[in-house]
Amino acid sequence: AASLANPAQVMLHSVNARRQAIEQMQLEQDLRQALARSEFVLHYQPVFDLQAGRAIGAEALVRWQHPERGLVPPGAFIDTAESSGLIGPLGLWVIREACRQLGEWNRAGLPHMRMAINVSARQFLDPQLGQHLREAIAAAGISPDQLEIELTETVAMVDHAHTHRVFSALRSDGVGIAIDDFGTGYASMSYLRKLPFDKLKIDREFVTDVHRSREGQAICGALIELGKGLGLRVLAEGVEQKEEVRYLAQQGCDLFQGYYFARPVAAAQFEHSLMLPPALLHGAEARLMDPL
Ligand code: C2E
Ligand code: MG
Ligand code: MG
Ligand code: MG
Repeated sequence: AASLANPAQVMLHSVNARRQAIEQMQLEQDLRQALARSEFVLHYQPVFDLQAGRAIGAEALVRWQHPERGLVPPGAFIDTAESSGLIGPLGLWVIREACRQLGEWNRAGLPHMRMAINVSARQFLDPQLGQHLREAIAAAGISPDQLEIELTETVAMVDHAHTHRVFSALRSDGVGIAIDDFGTGYASMSYLRKLPFDKLKIDREFVTDVHRSREGQAICGALIELGKGLGLRVLAEGVEQKEEVRYLAQQGCDLFQGYYFARPVAAAQFEHSLMLPPALLHGAEARLMDPL
């Protein structure tokens, strides 16, 4: 009733809604065109294993190389791609391109890498996903255990009979499955109990300033323990400070990803981003005892 009391507000609201709908349609149109024109690119962010003392993999992150707007981050278009169904062809392109790149790195003699690919809820529910992955793996000549898919928690995935079948099929092929942004979504616990993940990624939200945040420490500590208890590898996302690495490594976190180590970069720069930061480079022995 309150909103109907003011006709001017009602009108403004519908004008805004209309403008939003138009912008949405425009973006969809642009994305469709971008796909046809091959304007998407993948950047790669290395994943570091402190025990191994090296980068052991990479996460593929999509960007839109827009002719006027420059490099557009996925946050600006993934939701629209998902709601419009364009995530189907876009996601398939990401899978093929990431696998192709990994094949190239294998042949170039880079140390054995694992490639992580983000898969949206809608993509995951596509009955063809398994087939698409298998085809991309074969075409690229990589091994299935070099591939990992990253899923975020969403309501849609919980308790889907289909989800269980897809998971089991992928896992028996050797493909890894990581739960991304852990702790920020829904139904995390039932999700973890039912599905055979092999990696848990702690969201940056909990990692930032963990060395001086009581709340961060309580949450990261619990997540590391949870992950280990379930037999998963635990990765800290969005690490930007040496102190965060030191704290989390002492708590038993295995893997790290973040600007402190390396930003996501184009494939051509990737090889140069594999070095450990100087603070972490002082003898393998010392590193194993105290990572920093
Ligand atoms: P995500 O999978 O959780 O990826 C991590 C995001 O954190 C990436 O943002 C990465 O660039 C950023 N990041 C990494 N280290 C740091 C750090 O130290 N500090 C800060 N501030 N940020 C850091 P990006 O590339 O913008 O991607 C955002 C999200 O878009 C991803 O979150 C993922 O959910 C989604 N996304 C990216 N590529 C794809 C894709 O190919 N398919 C799908 N479905 N989603 C994708
Ligand atoms: Mg991810
Ligand atoms: Mg994440
Ligand atoms: Mg995220």
